[in-house]
Amino acid sequence: MSIDPKTYEYANDVLKGRIILITGATDGIGKALALHAATLGAQVILHGRNTGKLEAIYDEIESIDGAPRPSIAVLDLATADGDAYSALGKSIEDEFGRLDGLVHNAGILGQRLSLEQYDPGEWQKVLHVNLTAPFVITQQLIPALRNSEDPSIIFTSSGVGRVGKPFWGAYSVSKFGTESMSQILANENRHTSLRSNCINPGPVRTNMRLEAYPAEDRDALKKPGEILAAYVYLLGPDSKGVTGESFDIQ
Ligand code: NAP
Repeated sequence: MSIDPKTYEYANDVLKGRIILITGATDGIGKALALHAATLGAQVILHGRNTGKLEAIYDEIESIDGAPRPSIAVLDLATADGDAYSALGKSIEDEFGRLDGLVHNAGILGQRLSLEQYDPGEWQKVLHVNLTAPFVITQQLIPALRNSEDPSIIFTSSGVGRVGKPFWGAYSVSKFGTESMSQILANENRHTSLRSNCINPGPVRTNMRLEAYPAEDRDALKKPGEILAAYVYLLGPDSKGVTGESFDIQ
């Protein structure tokens, strides 16, 4: 029987022993996932650009009964240089020896303007943070992922990663690119245990969604903690062999 990631049910230690890096773990979906993964037994590497926010989540995880102690990786994806990315890869290999899960979650919205009006500098920044940075992080972390028995990468897509809607500019283009990057990686690794999939979270009550839809009724939206089953599924053992897919989870 095939599993529906949306309604996946799991044991409360399903991620026990797994080492998982989550980018953008300081807010929204990434923060909720970091806290939840830690309660499920994962050793979480919290990535973010803001040390104060990272330390607050670190403390929250430390106060969860039985949760493994997390780690912190500070890297501003808009400004970090090549050396900073290779230092990230090296520090994970040195400290843990392997990586079992990599969740590319950090992202920015950019301008909501027509292509005619879109600022080229902003375009470059959005593509850099949302697409180029995940590429470089993946490249640097593949050696550690290959040391895992069951390595899983999740890229975060969007509905506008499949349909080019007006006024979604660089964000939409970055998410189309994300879908293709995940497929390329999956197809290049069909003969290995490394799997790569996309999740489109759908509308979720976060700061990014508020920025995109300021007039919307926020109470009608799901909270980040309510959409995590598919992430847990793809990070855990029950999705072994699943690769090259893109999941809409609402
Ligand atoms: P969010 O609440 O705005 O969180 C974004 C995260 O990315 C934050 O942790 C933020 O850090 C981090 N980030 C942004 N720029 C960064 C940079 N330069 N360097 C390092 N970290 C950076 O957004 P969200 O809604 O949870 O979005 C998470 C993912 O889901 C994104 O990829 C988004 O495109 C996708 N998504 C969301 C929705 C939705 O409805 N919410 C729908 C479809 C797809 P700070 O805390 O420092 O700001």
